Amino acid sequence: MSFGNAVLDAIETKKRGGELSDSVIRELVESYSLREVPDYQMSALLMAIFIQGMRCQETLALTEAMANSGKRYSYPHCVDKHSTGGVGDKISLISLPIIAACGAPVAKLSGRGLGTTGGTIDRLESIPGFSAGLSEERFKKQIEEVGLAIMEPGDLAPADKAIYALRDTTGTVDSLPLIASSIVSKKVATGAGHLLYDVKSGSGAFMKTIEEAHELAQLLVRLSKSLGIEASALITNMNEPLGVAVGNALEVRESVHFLRDEPSAADLSKVARIVAVRLLELKGIPEPQSAVEKAISSGAAYEKFREFVTAQDGDTRALENLPVTNKVWEVSAPRTGYVAQIEALGVGRAALLLGAGRVKRGDEVDPGVGVEVLTKIGEEVEEGQPVVRLYGERNVERAVELVLETLKISDTPDERPPAILGSLE
Ligand code: URA
Repeated sequence: MSFGNAVLDAIETKKRGGELSDSVIRELVESYSLREVPDYQMSALLMAIFIQGMRCQETLALTEAMANSGKRYSYPHCVDKHSTGGVGDKISLISLPIIAACGAPVAKLSGRGLGTTGGTIDRLESIPGFSAGLSEERFKKQIEEVGLAIMEPGDLAPADKAIYALRDTTGTVDSLPLIASSIVSKKVATGAGHLLYDVKSGSGAFMKTIEEAHELAQLLVRLSKSLGIEASALITNMNEPLGVAVGNALEVRESVHFLRDEPSAADLSKVARIVAVRLLELKGIPEPQSAVEKAISSGAAYEKFREFVTAQDGDTRALENLPVTNKVWEVSAPRTGYVAQIEALGVGRAALLLGAGRVKRGDEVDPGVGVEVLTKIGEEVEEGQPVVRLYGERNVERAVELVLETLKISDTPDERPPAILGSLE
């Protein structure tokens, strides 16, 4: 029997809620990578998976097959963190130099942003000269010499790249087993031995509810452990943008201020510190909390960030005042009261319209545009007081409307939502 019939059998099985064997899944991924399975059949199978779901064993087999579809690196002594993505999420830029300064080496792959979710590579590329296209040799050498390297996936897990591109155009992205296998396959291929997932929950995240975020976190940790990675997860709030800045250079600026131990937003400070502590715990570094504080207050974390930027060809002199557009607009509070809502999704959409993100893959991003949120939930504002600053000149009118639509002001102060919503060992 040709594999063509086997694909049809697999579609039939999945369509009716049956289970695919490890060998069928492996063969499907291999054949699709060799272009022996056409996109239309793979799309039909993905839609059947989207509708019927996958058992844990099937998700594990899919993860392993995608991880094995290209090169596999091995850095069992290294740590990595993965965020499921959010608005203003610059936690990697902050927490990774901190832990590298504490002696925990970091080997990380990162992606570019899509939609309202920013990407670490886009943020870093707002630093003039910065390059994320590292060869395997250079990645390895930098981990040894600097203790921190971040690169684009390149030739790791190519089957995931091809399948993700298909999912993106066939309405099959938001499926729990497909998301989890996609994320974990890249982590397994990178080969870091200790991994923390930061699963975002809220309007600006993939997972809109805490329940959904828990389910994804559980699956990510379970798959990772089954494939030999020591993993745990945090669930963090993404109803409000994280910190102040949304947009590439603006977020690097905010991260630099944090690493220099300058005052920063309470939610950002809390999540960055907890992520760093949890990563050190995974690596077994003693007294992680005091190690993190010392790395920040001594300047060692900022120095590590500069060392990392230099190693990847970035101009550290530019970090002192990263260029952003001089087209700046302020949105004022329409009335006096307390900020009750400033949703991540609305702010993310405004930043996207200004040019900070991509509507579709391949779009150019403008590194110097974005949004600054000047007041956080629970804070008192006076009518006419600037609450949001917009940077850019594209679609400014619509961006202002989006901000005003998402801003709610009440007569009484609401309690600030917790930054950390859950934790999984
Ligand atoms: N991130 C990934 O890497 N894959 C998905 O499917 C979704 C988010």
